[in-house]
Amino acid sequence: MSDHHHGTKPPSDKALRVRALEQLLTEKGLIKEGAVDAIVDIFEQKLGPKNGAMVIARAWSDPEYKVRLMTDASAAIEEFGFAGFQGEYMVVCENTPEIHNVVVCTLCSCYPWPVLGLPPTWYKTAPYRSRVVIEPRAVLEEFGLTIPDEVEVRVWDSNNELRYLILPMRPEGTEGWTEAQLAELVTRDSMIGTGLPLTPDALTKGETA
Ligand code: FE
Repeated sequence: MSDHHHGTKPPSDKALRVRALEQLLTEKGLIKEGAVDAIVDIFEQKLGPKNGAMVIARAWSDPEYKVRLMTDASAAIEEFGFAGFQGEYMVVCENTPEIHNVVVCTLCSCYPWPVLGLPPTWYKTAPYRSRVVIEPRAVLEEFGLTIPDEVEVRVWDSNNELRYLILPMRPEGTEGWTEAQLAELVTRDSMIGTGLPLTPDALTKGETA
């Protein structure tokens, strides 16, 4: 496939054109400096991951949906209308008390856009891509996530054919919560495996996913 974009290659013509356009618009005073960064930030932090959070919250709430999600993730995700570019072949990996899953693209930055939006900068960096495969526990520690020795860590390498979404464990103390409430707990990083969902306590204290 032609959209495989290796981080070591020079920027594509399209990337260069976008950058030139951004610079021109800024110079002409048509957009404020940083406006594009702000928009990208919204896509990285808010819009995309909110889709994934809805999927996770439904899987936590509806056992039949969870079965569909685990057997044919692309179809189950498309029930929400989330589909398309960079999300055609989705696989969901479930965290359990015995197994913690984490996602990487060792080759470049493949990422499930329809459910998570644009990849965060660290996801695209060479150190994350190389180190998470070799020493996942140490890398997760740097994210503030300590995985107990008795828990197996599985690293999933994305590629053009397959994009992974992690189904984190449902936080304790959420019995009876609605899907909308549960979705508030689902962080972007918890769906990559470099973090955990918020606890109800953290949500009460004003943390946001
Ligand atoms: Fe890639």
